[in-house]
Amino acid sequence: MQSASSAPLLDPPHYGRLLICASLAVFAAAMVGILLRPIGYLSVFWPANQIALVLLVRYPRLLRPLGLLALFASFVAADLLTGTSLWLSAGFSTANLFGAVCGWLILRRQSERDLQMEGQYSALQVFFASGVAALASACIGGPVSAWAFELSLVQGLMMWWTGEWMNAMILLPFLLALPSARKAVTRQERMPWALKLLPVLAVVGLEMTSYMVGNKVGSLVFSLPALLWCALSYRILPTAVITMAVFVTKVIVISSTMGFVPSNFLDAATFRLGITMLILGPLSVAGAHAARTELLHRMRYQAHHDSLTDLLSRNGFVQASHSLLKRLTHEGSSAAVLMLDLDHFKRVNDSHGHASGDRLLRDVSSALAESLRPQDLLGRIGGEEFAVVLPNISFLDATTIAERLCQTVRSGQFYTAHNKPLRATLSIGLAYSQALKAGDSLDDLLREADLALYQAKARGRDCAVWTAPR
Ligand code: GH3
Ligand code: MG
Ligand code: MG
Repeated sequence: MQSASSAPLLDPPHYGRLLICASLAVFAAAMVGILLRPIGYLSVFWPANQIALVLLVRYPRLLRPLGLLALFASFVAADLLTGTSLWLSAGFSTANLFGAVCGWLILRRQSERDLQMEGQYSALQVFFASGVAALASACIGGPVSAWAFELSLVQGLMMWWTGEWMNAMILLPFLLALPSARKAVTRQERMPWALKLLPVLAVVGLEMTSYMVGNKVGSLVFSLPALLWCALSYRILPTAVITMAVFVTKVIVISSTMGFVPSNFLDAATFRLGITMLILGPLSVAGAHAARTELLHRMRYQAHHDSLTDLLSRNGFVQASHSLLKRLTHEGSSAAVLMLDLDHFKRVNDSHGHASGDRLLRDVSSALAESLRPQDLLGRIGGEEFAVVLPNISFLDATTIAERLCQTVRSGQFYTAHNKPLRATLSIGLAYSQALKAGDSLDDLLREADLALYQAKARGRDCAVWTAPR
C-alpha cells in the first residue's frame, strides 16, 4: 500500500472525481448519523467515520492535504447544516478525521486478504485497530463533548470511545468485505436455496424471540449460535451483513428504551462494550472459516494439478477419468482414450537445456488443451507423456481429433528458453470403446492405447495409431 508521500500523481480529473465521491459519501453518512441523534446528544449510530477510514484504506491518495481537507469539510458541512455551532463541529470533525487516520495507520500494512476480512485474524485485527482508533478519536472528541454537553471528562471520554468502537465493529467488517462480493463462488458453496437459508432464518427466529421476551440482559446473546452457524455456512460478506443488521437493530431498539445519555452513562458504555465484544465471535469464526476453506481449495488444486503445465497431474487425471468412465459406463456411452508422447524430447533437453524442455512442455500443453473440447480430459501423466479421455464420441471423430493433435504440435510455433524457434512432434496411441460396459477399466484402455503408442513410435513417430474399436 502506498503512503501519502509516495502516491503517484494522478491526472486532476481522476483525483477530482475521487474527492467528490469520497466527500459526498462521508457527508451522506454524517447526515444519516445526525438524523439518528437522541435530542441534544451524540449520535447512536455514526457510519461516517468508518466510511472515511475505509476510503483512506482503499484510496491512500486521499491522505494528501486536499483529500483530508475535503473529508474534514464534509463532516463540518453536515454538522453546520443541522444547526451545530462552527467551533463544536470543527472539534467533532477533527476528532472524527483523527480517528479515521489513526485507524488507517494501524490497518495499512495488512494484506488484501486480511483487509477483506478473510484472514484467520482479520476480525481480531479490526477489533484492535478500531479500539485504538476510537481511543485516539476520543482523546479529542471526549473533551469537546464534555465541554459541549456539560459532562465530566471521564464521561465524555467513555461515551465517545465506546460509541466509536461499537460503531466500528458493527460497520467496518461489512465495508471491508465489500470487494469480496466480486469473487467467484466455489463449487462446494453451491447448495439448494432452501437449505442455504436455514442459518439466516434461525437468526431471525432467535432475534424475534429475544424481542418477544423483552430486552432482558440474557436475551442479548440469543442469536449468537445462529450467527456462528451463518459464519460457518456463508461467505464473509453475507455474514458481515447479517451481523451488522442484527446489531444495528439491537442498538437502535435498546438505545431508544435505555437512552444513551450521560445520566446512565455507565449502562450505555458497558452495553456498547458488550456489543463490541459480542460481534467479534461470529466475525472471527467467519474469517477463520474463510481462511481454512481457501487453504483446502488450494491444497486440493495442488494435489490434482501439475505445477509445471497446470494440467491435471497423474493423480488428478486418474481420479477424474475414473469418475467420468463410471458415468459413461452407466449410460452405455462411447469413449476414446489416447496416450501422447513427445518425440525425441530428450534431444531438446540435451541440445537446448532443461529450461527449454520445460518451456516446450508448457507450450505444448497449452496447444493441446486449446485443441480439445471442453468436456475432454487432458492430463500430464509422466515426463513428456500425456493422456486424454474423449467422452461421447464416434470412432471417426476420435481418430480425427488424434490426427489433429499431431498436426497442432507439428505446425506449432515453439521456442527455446532463449527464444530460438524449436520444432516438435508427437506420437499418439488410441483405444476406443463404442459402448462402455461394466468391467471396462481405465487401466485396460490406457494399456491398449500405450500398445498403439509403441506402434506409432515404431512407424517413425509423428503419427497416430489406433487399435480396432471394441
Ligand atoms: P521418444 O521419441 O522415444 O519418446 O524419445 P524421448 O527422448 O522423447 O523419450 P525418452 O524417454 O528417452 O526421454 C524423455 C526425457 O524427458 C527424459 C527426461 O529427462 C525428460 N523429462 C522428463 N520430465 C521432464 C521435465 O519435467 N522437464 C524436462 N525439461 N525434461 C523432462
Ligand atoms: Mg518421448
Ligand atoms: Mg516417454
